[in-house]
Amino acid sequence: MSEKKKIALLGSTGSIGTQTLEVVKSYLEIFELSVLTANRNADLLIEQALEFRPNVVVIADESLYEKVESALFDADINVYTGEEALAQVTQMDEVDIVLTALVGFSGLKPTIAAIEAGKNIALANKETLVVAGEIITKLARQKGVNIYPVDSEHSAIFQCLTGEYQNPIEKIYLTASGGPFRGKKRADLQNTTKEQALKHPNWEMGAKITIDSASMMNKGLEVIEAKWLFGLKNEQIDVIVHPQSIVHSLVQFKDGSMKAQMGLPDMKLPIQYALTYPNRLETDFERFNFMDYPTLTFEKPDLETFTNLRLAYEVMEKGGNAPCVLNAANEISVAAFLADKIKFLEIAEINEKAVSELAFIKNPSLEQLFETDKQTRIFASNLIG
Ligand code: NDP
Repeated sequence: MSEKKKIALLGSTGSIGTQTLEVVKSYLEIFELSVLTANRNADLLIEQALEFRPNVVVIADESLYEKVESALFDADINVYTGEEALAQVTQMDEVDIVLTALVGFSGLKPTIAAIEAGKNIALANKETLVVAGEIITKLARQKGVNIYPVDSEHSAIFQCLTGEYQNPIEKIYLTASGGPFRGKKRADLQNTTKEQALKHPNWEMGAKITIDSASMMNKGLEVIEAKWLFGLKNEQIDVIVHPQSIVHSLVQFKDGSMKAQMGLPDMKLPIQYALTYPNRLETDFERFNFMDYPTLTFEKPDLETFTNLRLAYEVMEKGGNAPCVLNAANEISVAAFLADKIKFLEIAEINEKAVSELAFIKNPSLEQLFETDKQTRIFASNLIG
Protein backbone atom coordinates (compact mmCIF):
# COMPACT_ATOMS: atom_id res chain seq x y z
CA MET A 1 0.00 0.00 0.00
CA SER A 2 1.20 3.48 -0.85
CA GLU A 3 2.14 5.68 2.11
CA LYS A 4 2.23 8.83 0.12
CA LYS A 5 0.00 11.71 1.14
CA LYS A 6 -2.87 11.76 -1.33
CA ILE A 7 -3.95 15.25 -2.29
CA ALA A 8 -7.14 16.56 -3.85
CA LEU A 9 -6.11 19.88 -5.38
CA LEU A 10 -9.14 22.05 -6.02
CA GLY A 11 -8.28 24.89 -8.42
CA SER A 12 -5.15 23.31 -9.86
CA THR A 13 -5.00 25.71 -12.81
CA GLY A 14 -4.77 28.86 -10.69
CA SER A 15 -1.87 30.66 -9.06
CA ILE A 16 -1.92 28.59 -5.84
CA GLY A 17 -2.83 25.47 -7.79
CA THR A 18 0.15 25.64 -10.14
CA GLN A 19 2.52 26.46 -7.28
CA THR A 20 1.18 23.47 -5.36
CA LEU A 21 2.01 21.29 -8.35
CA GLU A 22 5.58 22.62 -8.27
CA VAL A 23 5.82 21.61 -4.60
CA VAL A 24 4.39 18.16 -5.37
CA LYS A 25 6.80 17.72 -8.27
CA SER A 26 9.80 18.24 -6.00
CA TYR A 27 8.58 15.57 -3.59
CA LEU A 28 6.96 12.85 -5.67
CA GLU A 29 8.17 10.29 -3.14
CA ILE A 30 5.98 11.95 -0.49
CA PHE A 31 2.97 13.31 -2.34
CA GLU A 32 0.51 11.87 -4.80
CA LEU A 33 -2.27 13.74 -6.59
CA SER A 34 -5.67 12.06 -6.51
CA VAL A 35 -7.80 14.89 -7.81
CA LEU A 36 -7.24 17.96 -9.99
CA THR A 37 -9.95 20.49 -10.78
CA ALA A 38 -10.47 23.60 -12.88
CA ASN A 39 -13.31 25.87 -13.82
CA ARG A 40 -12.77 26.67 -17.53
CA ASN A 41 -9.08 26.23 -18.28
CA ALA A 42 -9.49 22.83 -19.94
CA ASP A 43 -6.16 22.92 -21.81
CA LEU A 44 -4.07 23.38 -18.71
CA LEU A 45 -6.15 20.86 -16.74
CA ILE A 46 -5.57 18.24 -19.46
CA GLU A 47 -1.84 18.98 -19.51
CA GLN A 48 -1.63 18.69 -15.71
CA ALA A 49 -3.65 15.47 -15.68
CA LEU A 50 -1.40 13.84 -18.27
CA GLU A 51 1.66 14.79 -16.25
CA PHE A 52 0.45 13.95 -12.72
CA ARG A 53 -1.98 11.10 -13.52
CA PRO A 54 -4.64 11.70 -10.83
CA ASN A 55 -7.51 9.23 -10.37
CA VAL A 56 -10.03 11.93 -11.15
CA VAL A 57 -10.32 15.38 -12.68
CA VAL A 58 -13.26 17.75 -12.50
CA ILE A 59 -13.92 20.49 -15.01
CA ALA A 60 -16.57 22.64 -13.33
CA ASP A 61 -17.86 24.19 -16.55
CA GLU A 62 -20.12 21.54 -18.07
CA SER A 63 -19.67 22.79 -21.65
CA LEU A 64 -16.03 21.68 -21.49
CA TYR A 65 -16.66 18.16 -20.24
CA GLU A 66 -16.43 16.40 -23.61
CA LYS A 67 -13.18 18.11 -24.51
CA VAL A 68 -11.52 17.01 -21.24
CA GLU A 69 -13.09 13.56 -21.25
CA SER A 70 -11.92 12.70 -24.75
CA ALA A 71 -8.42 14.05 -24.11
CA LEU A 72 -8.04 11.88 -21.00
CA PHE A 73 -9.88 8.77 -22.18
CA ASP A 74 -6.76 6.79 -23.12
CA ALA A 75 -5.01 7.81 -19.91
CA ASP A 76 -7.71 6.04 -17.87
CA ILE A 77 -8.48 9.12 -15.79
CA ASN A 78 -12.09 9.61 -14.65
CA VAL A 79 -13.54 12.95 -15.68
CA TYR A 80 -16.49 14.60 -13.96
CA THR A 81 -18.17 17.95 -14.31
CA GLY A 82 -20.37 20.37 -12.38
CA GLU A 83 -20.60 21.84 -8.92
CA GLU A 84 -21.82 18.67 -7.23
CA ALA A 85 -18.92 16.64 -8.60
CA LEU A 86 -16.48 19.21 -7.24
CA ALA A 87 -17.82 18.54 -3.75
CA GLN A 88 -18.16 14.76 -4.12
CA VAL A 89 -14.60 14.08 -5.26
CA THR A 90 -13.21 15.48 -2.00
CA GLN A 91 -14.86 12.56 -0.19
CA MET A 92 -13.15 9.74 -2.10
CA ASP A 93 -11.14 7.14 -0.19
CA GLU A 94 -8.11 8.06 -2.30
CA VAL A 95 -7.91 11.49 -0.62
CA ASP A 96 -6.03 12.31 2.61
CA ILE A 97 -5.98 16.09 2.38
CA VAL A 98 -7.89 18.63 0.30
CA LEU A 99 -6.05 21.76 -0.76
CA THR A 100 -8.72 24.35 -1.50
CA ALA A 101 -7.33 26.82 -4.03
CA LEU A 102 -10.63 27.76 -5.59
CA VAL A 103 -11.47 31.41 -5.66
CA GLY A 104 -14.39 32.98 -3.80
CA PHE A 105 -17.66 31.48 -2.60
CA SER A 106 -17.22 28.49 -4.96
CA GLY A 107 -14.91 26.98 -2.32
CA LEU A 108 -17.57 26.70 0.36
CA LYS A 109 -19.50 23.57 -0.71
CA PRO A 110 -16.44 21.42 -1.51
CA THR A 111 -14.81 22.44 1.79
CA ILE A 112 -17.87 21.42 3.75
CA ALA A 113 -18.11 18.14 1.84
CA ALA A 114 -14.45 17.39 2.57
CA ILE A 115 -14.83 18.13 6.29
CA GLU A 116 -18.00 16.02 6.44
CA ALA A 117 -15.94 13.13 5.09
CA GLY A 118 -13.21 13.73 7.72
CA LYS A 119 -10.56 14.97 5.28
CA ASN A 120 -7.97 17.43 6.53
CA ILE A 121 -7.97 20.78 4.76
CA ALA A 122 -5.09 22.92 3.51
CA LEU A 123 -6.96 26.16 3.12
CA ALA A 124 -6.02 28.84 0.61
CA ASN A 125 -9.61 29.77 -0.19
CA LYS A 126 -10.03 32.34 2.59
CA GLU A 127 -13.50 33.40 1.39
CA THR A 128 -14.88 30.12 2.77
CA LEU A 129 -13.95 31.09 6.33
CA VAL A 130 -15.09 34.67 5.80
CA VAL A 131 -18.53 33.54 4.71
CA ALA A 132 -19.10 30.65 7.11
CA GLY A 133 -16.25 30.65 9.63
CA GLU A 134 -18.41 29.68 12.59
CA ILE A 135 -20.12 26.78 10.82
CA ILE A 136 -16.91 25.49 9.23
CA THR A 137 -14.78 25.59 12.38
CA LYS A 138 -17.53 23.95 14.45
CA LEU A 139 -17.94 21.18 11.87
CA ALA A 140 -14.18 20.67 11.71
CA ARG A 141 -14.02 20.29 15.50
CA GLN A 142 -16.89 17.77 15.46
CA LYS A 143 -15.24 15.73 12.72
CA GLY A 144 -11.72 15.97 14.16
CA VAL A 145 -10.50 17.67 11.00
CA ASN A 146 -7.48 19.97 10.94
CA ILE A 147 -7.50 23.14 8.87
CA TYR A 148 -3.95 24.09 7.89
CA PRO A 149 -3.57 27.65 6.62
CA VAL A 150 -1.98 28.26 3.23
CA ASP A 151 -2.35 32.05 3.23
CA SER A 152 1.17 33.29 4.00
CA GLU A 153 0.14 35.51 6.93
CA HIS A 154 -1.87 32.75 8.58
CA SER A 155 0.83 30.23 7.92
CA ALA A 156 3.21 32.64 9.65
CA ILE A 157 0.95 32.80 12.71
CA PHE A 158 0.55 29.02 12.64
CA GLN A 159 4.33 28.56 12.49
CA CYS A 160 4.83 31.00 15.39
CA LEU A 161 2.31 29.03 17.45
CA THR A 162 3.98 25.66 16.96
CA GLY A 163 5.12 24.49 20.38
CA GLU A 164 3.13 27.26 22.12
CA TYR A 165 -0.25 25.58 22.48
CA GLN A 166 -0.43 26.06 26.25
CA ASN A 167 0.38 29.77 25.91
CA PRO A 168 -2.56 32.03 25.16
CA ILE A 169 -2.21 34.66 22.47
CA GLU A 170 -2.46 38.29 23.52
CA LYS A 171 -2.58 39.65 20.02
CA ILE A 172 -1.62 38.94 16.45
CA TYR A 173 -0.34 41.36 13.84
CA LEU A 174 -1.13 40.53 10.23
CA THR A 175 1.30 42.26 7.93
CA ALA A 176 0.13 43.89 4.69
CA SER A 177 2.33 45.02 1.84
CA GLY A 178 0.00 47.96 1.24
CA GLY A 179 -0.33 46.88 -2.40
CA PRO A 180 0.40 49.02 -5.46
CA PHE A 181 -1.42 52.09 -4.06
CA ARG A 182 0.25 52.40 -0.67
CA GLY A 183 0.61 56.08 0.22
CA LYS A 184 -2.05 57.18 -2.26
CA LYS A 185 -5.15 59.12 -1.22
CA ARG A 186 -8.69 58.82 -2.61
CA ALA A 187 -8.15 61.75 -4.97
CA ASP A 188 -5.15 59.91 -6.49
CA LEU A 189 -7.25 56.79 -7.10
CA GLN A 190 -10.14 58.36 -9.05
CA ASN A 191 -8.91 57.17 -12.44
CA THR A 192 -6.97 54.08 -11.46
CA THR A 193 -6.79 51.56 -14.30
CA LYS A 194 -7.11 47.81 -14.15
CA GLU A 195 -3.50 47.45 -15.32
CA GLN A 196 -2.24 49.61 -12.41
CA ALA A 197 -4.34 47.69 -9.89
CA LEU A 198 -3.13 44.33 -11.21
CA LYS A 199 0.53 45.24 -10.62
CA HIS A 200 1.26 43.95 -7.13
CA PRO A 201 4.69 45.01 -5.87
CA ASN A 202 5.67 41.73 -4.16
CA TRP A 203 3.35 38.84 -5.06
CA GLU A 204 2.12 37.26 -8.30
CA MET A 205 -1.39 36.01 -7.71
CA GLY A 206 -4.75 35.44 -9.39
CA ALA A 207 -6.68 38.49 -10.62
CA LYS A 208 -9.30 38.60 -7.85
CA ILE A 209 -6.89 38.52 -4.92
CA THR A 210 -4.59 41.01 -6.68
CA ILE A 211 -7.43 43.55 -6.92
CA ASP A 212 -8.38 42.71 -3.32
CA SER A 213 -4.79 43.51 -2.33
CA ALA A 214 -4.90 46.85 -4.15
CA SER A 215 -8.14 47.79 -2.35
CA MET A 216 -6.98 46.23 0.96
CA MET A 217 -10.08 44.05 0.92
CA ASN A 218 -7.70 41.11 0.98
CA LYS A 219 -6.34 42.17 4.36
CA GLY A 220 -9.89 42.63 5.61
CA LEU A 221 -10.80 39.10 4.51
CA GLU A 222 -7.63 37.85 6.18
CA VAL A 223 -8.56 39.50 9.48
CA ILE A 224 -11.83 37.54 9.50
CA GLU A 225 -10.04 34.38 8.36
CA ALA A 226 -7.61 34.74 11.29
CA LYS A 227 -10.44 35.15 13.78
CA TRP A 228 -11.82 31.73 12.87
CA LEU A 229 -8.55 29.90 12.28
CA PHE A 230 -7.06 30.88 15.62
CA GLY A 231 -10.21 31.41 17.71
CA LEU A 232 -9.47 35.07 18.42
CA LYS A 233 -11.55 37.96 19.67
CA ASN A 234 -11.88 40.84 17.20
CA GLU A 235 -9.74 43.19 19.28
CA GLN A 236 -6.85 40.69 19.27
CA ILE A 237 -6.27 41.12 15.52
CA ASP A 238 -4.29 44.07 14.23
CA VAL A 239 -2.97 44.94 10.78
CA ILE A 240 0.37 46.60 10.15
CA VAL A 241 1.63 47.70 6.77
CA HIS A 242 5.06 46.30 5.96
CA PRO A 243 5.95 47.14 2.35
CA GLN A 244 8.87 44.70 2.02
CA SER A 245 6.69 41.59 2.72
CA ILE A 246 9.52 39.87 4.60
CA VAL A 247 7.87 39.59 8.03
CA HIS A 248 4.84 37.50 7.14
CA SER A 249 3.01 38.12 10.44
CA LEU A 250 3.58 38.17 14.20
CA VAL A 251 2.15 36.74 17.41
CA GLN A 252 2.37 38.57 20.72
CA PHE A 253 2.06 36.40 23.82
CA LYS A 254 0.83 37.36 27.31
CA ASP A 255 4.36 38.02 28.55
CA GLY A 256 4.80 40.66 25.82
CA SER A 257 7.17 38.51 23.77
CA MET A 258 6.60 38.63 20.03
CA LYS A 259 7.38 35.93 17.50
CA ALA A 260 7.54 36.63 13.79
CA GLN A 261 7.96 34.36 10.81
CA MET A 262 10.13 35.77 8.04
CA GLY A 263 11.35 34.91 4.58
CA LEU A 264 11.26 36.01 0.98
CA PRO A 265 7.72 36.20 -0.43
CA ASP A 266 7.13 32.78 -1.99
CA MET A 267 3.82 30.94 -1.61
CA LYS A 268 5.48 27.57 -2.15
CA LEU A 269 6.73 27.62 1.42
CA PRO A 270 3.34 28.03 3.17
CA ILE A 271 1.82 25.57 0.67
CA GLN A 272 4.48 22.98 1.50
CA TYR A 273 4.20 23.56 5.26
CA ALA A 274 0.42 23.07 5.13
CA LEU A 275 0.99 19.74 3.40
CA THR A 276 3.82 18.48 5.61
CA TYR A 277 3.04 19.98 9.05
CA PRO A 278 4.66 19.51 11.55
CA ASN A 279 7.66 18.60 9.41
CA ARG A 280 9.79 20.95 7.35
CA LEU A 281 11.19 19.59 4.12
CA GLU A 282 14.44 20.74 2.60
CA THR A 283 13.99 23.17 -0.30
CA ASP A 284 16.16 25.06 -2.74
CA PHE A 285 13.93 28.16 -2.57
CA GLU A 286 15.90 31.40 -2.72
CA ARG A 287 17.18 32.39 0.74
CA PHE A 288 16.72 35.76 2.44
CA ASN A 289 19.81 37.96 2.53
CA PHE A 290 19.88 40.69 5.19
CA MET A 291 22.12 42.87 3.05
CA ASP A 292 19.40 43.05 0.37
CA TYR A 293 16.98 44.40 3.01
CA PRO A 294 18.93 46.72 5.31
CA THR A 295 15.67 48.41 6.36
CA LEU A 296 12.39 46.75 7.21
CA THR A 297 9.63 49.30 7.78
CA PHE A 298 6.19 49.30 9.38
CA GLU A 299 3.33 51.79 9.18
CA LYS A 300 -0.33 52.19 10.08
CA PRO A 301 -2.89 51.23 7.43
CA ASP A 302 -4.79 54.17 5.93
CA LEU A 303 -8.43 53.35 6.70
CA GLU A 304 -9.69 56.62 5.21
CA THR A 305 -8.45 55.69 1.76
CA PHE A 306 -8.79 51.92 1.96
CA THR A 307 -12.28 51.79 3.39
CA ASN A 308 -12.66 48.09 2.57
CA LEU A 309 -10.39 47.23 5.49
CA ARG A 310 -12.48 49.32 7.88
CA LEU A 311 -15.62 47.68 6.46
CA ALA A 312 -14.20 44.21 7.09
CA TYR A 313 -13.63 45.07 10.77
CA GLU A 314 -17.21 46.37 10.92
CA VAL A 315 -18.77 43.22 9.47
CA MET A 316 -16.62 41.06 11.73
CA GLU A 317 -17.98 43.02 14.72
CA LYS A 318 -21.52 42.73 13.42
CA GLY A 319 -21.16 38.99 12.77
CA GLY A 320 -24.05 36.87 11.48
CA ASN A 321 -24.42 37.01 7.71
CA ALA A 322 -22.68 40.41 7.40
CA PRO A 323 -19.27 38.97 6.32
CA CYS A 324 -21.12 36.84 3.73
CA VAL A 325 -22.74 40.01 2.34
CA LEU A 326 -19.40 41.77 2.15
CA ASN A 327 -17.77 38.82 0.40
CA ALA A 328 -20.52 38.45 -2.21
CA ALA A 329 -20.69 42.17 -2.93
CA ASN A 330 -16.92 42.26 -3.27
CA GLU A 331 -16.86 39.32 -5.70
CA ILE A 332 -19.38 41.14 -7.90
CA SER A 333 -17.73 44.55 -7.66
CA VAL A 334 -14.22 43.18 -8.34
CA ALA A 335 -15.49 41.23 -11.36
CA ALA A 336 -17.18 44.43 -12.62
CA PHE A 337 -13.96 46.41 -12.17
CA LEU A 338 -12.02 43.72 -14.05
CA ALA A 339 -14.63 43.94 -16.84
CA ASP A 340 -14.16 47.76 -17.00
CA LYS A 341 -17.74 48.34 -15.84
CA ILE A 342 -16.96 50.36 -12.72
CA LYS A 343 -14.12 52.51 -11.36
CA PHE A 344 -11.69 51.35 -8.72
CA LEU A 345 -13.20 53.39 -5.87
CA GLU A 346 -16.66 52.08 -6.69
CA ILE A 347 -15.61 48.61 -5.52
CA ALA A 348 -15.66 49.78 -1.90
CA GLU A 349 -18.76 51.93 -2.45
CA ILE A 350 -20.77 48.96 -3.72
CA ASN A 351 -19.50 46.80 -0.87
CA GLU A 352 -20.51 49.43 1.67
CA LYS A 353 -24.02 49.84 0.21
CA ALA A 354 -24.59 46.08 0.24
CA VAL A 355 -23.51 45.77 3.86
CA SER A 356 -25.80 48.59 4.95
CA GLU A 357 -28.86 47.48 2.95
CA LEU A 358 -29.03 43.67 2.87
CA ALA A 359 -31.14 42.05 5.61
CA PHE A 360 -29.14 41.11 8.68
CA ILE A 361 -29.41 37.59 10.11
CA LYS A 362 -27.79 37.08 13.50
CA ASN A 363 -27.32 33.30 13.50
CA PRO A 364 -27.60 32.21 9.88
CA SER A 365 -27.87 28.57 8.87
CA LEU A 366 -25.86 27.36 5.91
CA GLU A 367 -28.97 27.61 3.72
CA GLN A 368 -29.45 31.22 4.83
CA LEU A 369 -25.83 31.97 3.92
CA PHE A 370 -26.38 30.57 0.42
CA GLU A 371 -29.49 32.75 0.13
CA THR A 372 -27.60 35.79 1.46
CA ASP A 373 -24.89 35.21 -1.12
CA LYS A 374 -27.49 34.99 -3.88
CA GLN A 375 -29.45 38.07 -2.81
CA THR A 376 -26.29 40.14 -2.37
CA ARG A 377 -25.08 39.23 -5.85
CA ILE A 378 -28.41 40.38 -7.30
CA PHE A 379 -28.29 43.60 -5.25
CA ALA A 380 -24.70 44.42 -6.23
CA SER A 381 -25.28 43.55 -9.89
CA ASN A 382 -28.28 45.89 -9.97
CA LEU A 383 -26.12 48.72 -8.63
CA ILE A 384 -23.69 48.12 -11.49
CA GLY A 385 -26.47 48.00 -14.09
P1 NDP B 1 -6.77 31.96 -9.40
O1 NDP B 1 -7.82 32.83 -9.97
O2 NDP B 1 -5.38 32.07 -9.92
O3 NDP B 1 -7.21 30.42 -9.50
C1 NDP B 1 -8.48 29.99 -9.10
C2 NDP B 1 -8.68 28.53 -9.38
O4 NDP B 1 -10.02 28.16 -9.06
C3 NDP B 1 -8.50 28.15 -10.85
O5 NDP B 1 -8.08 26.82 -10.93
C4 NDP B 1 -9.92 28.29 -11.40
O6 NDP B 1 -10.13 27.53 -12.58
C5 NDP B 1 -10.74 27.74 -10.24
N1 NDP B 1 -12.07 28.31 -10.15
C6 NDP B 1 -12.40 29.61 -10.18
N2 NDP B 1 -13.74 29.78 -10.06
C7 NDP B 1 -14.26 28.53 -9.97
C8 NDP B 1 -15.59 28.02 -9.87
N3 NDP B 1 -16.66 28.82 -9.82
N4 NDP B 1 -15.75 26.68 -9.80
C9 NDP B 1 -14.68 25.85 -9.84
N5 NDP B 1 -13.41 26.28 -9.97
C10 NDP B 1 -13.20 27.60 -10.02
O7 NDP B 1 -6.78 32.23 -7.83
P2 NDP B 1 -5.55 32.14 -6.80
O8 NDP B 1 -4.81 30.88 -6.97
O9 NDP B 1 -4.83 33.43 -6.82
O10 NDP B 1 -6.34 32.12 -5.41
C11 NDP B 1 -7.05 30.97 -4.97
C12 NDP B 1 -7.45 31.19 -3.52
O11 NDP B 1 -6.27 31.27 -2.73
C13 NDP B 1 -8.22 32.48 -3.29
O12 NDP B 1 -9.18 32.29 -2.29
C14 NDP B 1 -7.15 33.44 -2.79
O13 NDP B 1 -7.67 34.44 -1.95
C15 NDP B 1 -6.23 32.49 -2.01
N6 NDP B 1 -4.85 32.93 -1.90
C16 NDP B 1 -4.11 33.13 -3.02
C17 NDP B 1 -2.79 33.54 -2.93
C18 NDP B 1 -1.93 33.68 -4.16
O14 NDP B 1 -0.72 33.94 -4.00
N7 NDP B 1 -2.45 33.53 -5.34
C19 NDP B 1 -2.17 33.83 -1.61
C20 NDP B 1 -3.02 33.53 -0.51
C21 NDP B 1 -4.32 33.12 -0.65
P3 NDP B 1 -9.81 28.15 -14.05
O15 NDP B 1 -8.32 28.32 -14.13
O16 NDP B 1 -10.33 27.12 -14.97
O17 NDP B 1 -10.55 29.46 -14.11
